[in-house]
Amino acid sequence: MIEFEQIFYTYSCSQKPTINNLSLQLKEGKRYALIGNNGSGKTTFLRLANGLYRPDRGVIRFFGQPLKYNHRGIDRTLFKQWYQQVGLVFQDPEQQLVATTVEEDLSYGLCNLGIPDDEIALRVANTLKEFNLEELAHFPVNYLSLGQKKRLAIADVMILKPKILLLDEPTAYLDPRQRKELIKQLQQISIEGTTILLATHDLDFIYGWADWIFVMDKGKIALQGTPDEVFDKKDLLEGLDLDIPLELKLRMKILSESKKL
Ligand code: ADP
Repeated sequence: MIEFEQIFYTYSCSQKPTINNLSLQLKEGKRYALIGNNGSGKTTFLRLANGLYRPDRGVIRFFGQPLKYNHRGIDRTLFKQWYQQVGLVFQDPEQQLVATTVEEDLSYGLCNLGIPDDEIALRVANTLKEFNLEELAHFPVNYLSLGQKKRLAIADVMILKPKILLLDEPTAYLDPRQRKELIKQLQQISIEGTTILLATHDLDFIYGWADWIFVMDKGKIALQGTPDEVFDKKDLLEGLDLDIPLELKLRMKILSESKKL
């Protein structure tokens, strides 16, 4: 679905590439997690995947089509399609929410895509319901809690019906109840067929959730595999400062013993 082939990206103020010969493939309908220590390049990767940044070298393909760029970013002919089909939810929802009320915020992206008014009204009503935001429809975005803002930021992207949802640290700073709600929401999105890739430090969550994990180190993929395969490489993970939480170690032990029986 999306393929990164030997991608390099260097920030203009930096000497070394932040993304350093990164290659990976994402298949439709799967649940992916991207882990790695701070500064390994996860956010930069998501911004390349979303088309906000342009690689210095390498090719990004979407359903086999290489992304083309002009001096302003993604080529105009592809831009609308890309913006609609590859959705990115930022770590900080403040960077994403643009309008005054919840309802206005939901319609913003659809207006930009030139969708007719009656279709916008229908999609907004459905999304308010799906994301449990109906009671907040006319509420000022500024007064929402962090959990509500994160929920709205995901709804803002999902209302565009993307093929892939990219999320940067979706569970960061959420309390246990908000985290549980968000995980439920992501389950639902994935059941409905959207491919998801999330960058996270929440190893406990992704162990039971992800189909495939990418481990990033110094701008490239250091390791990838199923959760069992990846968490089995404890020494390598610890070498990258990724400590497996004790409860997760116990859960893995119980699971591996039950498989032996
Ligand atoms: P992660 O999400 O894994 O923490 P980032 O992609 O945010 O990693 O950052 C990777 C590296 O790129 C870090 O060394 C960071 O300081 C640098 N970096 C990130 N954003 C910028 C920027 N806008 N300008 C310059 N350097 C940046």
